[in-house]
Amino acid sequence: MSQLEENTSLNFIEQIVEDDLGDGKNGSVIHTRFPPEPNGFLHLGHAKSICLNFGLAQKYGGKTNLRFDDTNPVTEDTSYVEAIKEDVRWLGFEWEGEEHYASDYFDKLYELAVELIKRGKAYVDETSVDEIRRMRGTPTQPGEESAYRNRPTEESLTLFEKMKSGELAEGSHVLRAKIDMASPNMHLRDPIMYRILHHHHHRTGDNWHIYPTYDWAHGQSDAIENITHSVCTLEFEVHRPLYDWFVEQIGEFDQEMVNPRPQQIEFARLNVNYTVMSKRKLLELVNEGYVNGWDDPRMPTISGLRRRGYTPASLRNFAERVGVAKRDNMIDLSLLEFCIREDLNKTAPRVMAVLNPIKLVITNYPEGKAEDLSVENNPEDENGGSRIVPFSRELYIERDDFMEDPPKKFFRLGPGREVRLKGAYIIHCDSFEKEEATGEITTIYATYFPDTKSGEDTSGKKVKGTIHWVSAPHAVTAEVRLYDRLFSDPEPTNHEDDQGEPIDYKQFINPDSLVTLDNVQVEPGLKNAQPFDRFQFMRKGYFCVDSDSSEGKLVFNQTVTLRDSWAKKSKK
Ligand code: ATP
Ligand code: MG
Repeated sequence: MSQLEENTSLNFIEQIVEDDLGDGKNGSVIHTRFPPEPNGFLHLGHAKSICLNFGLAQKYGGKTNLRFDDTNPVTEDTSYVEAIKEDVRWLGFEWEGEEHYASDYFDKLYELAVELIKRGKAYVDETSVDEIRRMRGTPTQPGEESAYRNRPTEESLTLFEKMKSGELAEGSHVLRAKIDMASPNMHLRDPIMYRILHHHHHRTGDNWHIYPTYDWAHGQSDAIENITHSVCTLEFEVHRPLYDWFVEQIGEFDQEMVNPRPQQIEFARLNVNYTVMSKRKLLELVNEGYVNGWDDPRMPTISGLRRRGYTPASLRNFAERVGVAKRDNMIDLSLLEFCIREDLNKTAPRVMAVLNPIKLVITNYPEGKAEDLSVENNPEDENGGSRIVPFSRELYIERDDFMEDPPKKFFRLGPGREVRLKGAYIIHCDSFEKEEATGEITTIYATYFPDTKSGEDTSGKKVKGTIHWVSAPHAVTAEVRLYDRLFSDPEPTNHEDDQGEPIDYKQFINPDSLVTLDNVQVEPGLKNAQPFDRFQFMRKGYFCVDSDSSEGKLVFNQTVTLRDSWAKKSKK
């Protein structure tokens, strides 16, 4: 199926949910969760996961929790929590009740771990982490049992208590589940449940000296919150037997807690070409100054896309079109651009902005005169209305709409040529002035035909081209930031050198991903445009007012070009 076709059949997760609801499983309830780790801003992949989790619950009358998976105090921060909440809401979703935190369950998780120790299902190991890793074996060779594996329960209980109270050094002890060192699944070879970290936590402060691992915390948090369908990405497929093992062990002594019984379901993570989709790498781009912060409009973060001018609807649409796959794949960035174009084409008012201005003087138009022309806002929107645009003797037009010696097929302006000025008159180009030293054209001179006014044209004159313009004395100067792909390679993380060593993805950063134009001339009506207002600059693309704008300083971000210019380029 092509990426652009709408998918109306059920995806495999919807199929599972429908089957479960039909079978009366868990009392025919669906409760999902979105579990971000607050260690960075959300990106497009998270947007996909948010739309999937919240979308499933919406479709089947269920609920979705927002749970911060804050089990690693070293990389996490409160500022990320706030940014994540803002992004989820902006996408158009509201979670059930208050947000949750895995750290809210630290006491409960500790209690459960103690119970597992008592039942001979967990033990404190004093082997070093490196040694533990070595002793795990390989996928084809069984692991070795730790010398501490069969220590008395009481000893493990006492040591676990000491780990908790902060008496033991980092790295000296861990708590491990006691499963099977010979299991073909490496994750079942006595996985670590707790490690010692003498580190301040953004919510629990200095209360804890041990922190649970993802495998231990995640499934139990799902169980505590009565999550029915725990949707995650494919790399966790191999963790699923462990997820189930923990739930089963808990069920041995606390049936209530694992009813409903959470079920982990994996889908392929979203990958998009010409970008990177990992918080660790995105953080690197921010910290090393390759971009201007997490919300730089070139970033694939939700906040970056928002600032770039993307709408929530366009991202939800994108997530829908991408679909839910069971195998890893690569989505074309142009699909994302298609989605925002489709939305803005219907909703963004058209305005005139001259990105690279050159002066045009209409010699037969009276000096000092100005007239208000009524120009249609959006031909795609019946209720779009029209606006007033001032016209006068001195205008700006796009420098590349004029050629000194144009070829035949150039339907814009050149000596002796005629074009229509959008919403105004037909003009005839008479002459131009050129700076001899540089060869730069400085002024174009034209005459206009008064009987060719748009909407009232009685002349019968025909021209092949229409160009946009602004009135020089009325225009407002703006800054425009043009963006290109952040990477010049479709898969920057997927390259090796001659020795087979991975090449740093940063080698593929596109040096021209940002071009700033500081003398853009826009219609005066844009003077009071507010951050996040979106427009189509006629013939130029979609643009959005940047949050750097202030009284007297207008800054626009280019959201997307009018057409898929890359498709055109690659055909050449
Ligand atoms: P990253 O690798 O960027 O750090 P992560 O998976 O570590 O991502 P989390 O905050 O742990 O980030 O993820 C929260 C949720 O978002 C998880 O359920 C995760 O599976 C999902 N998610 C993360 N990245 C993607 C992606 N590229 N596509 C789909 N879902 C994703
Ligand atoms: Mg993570």
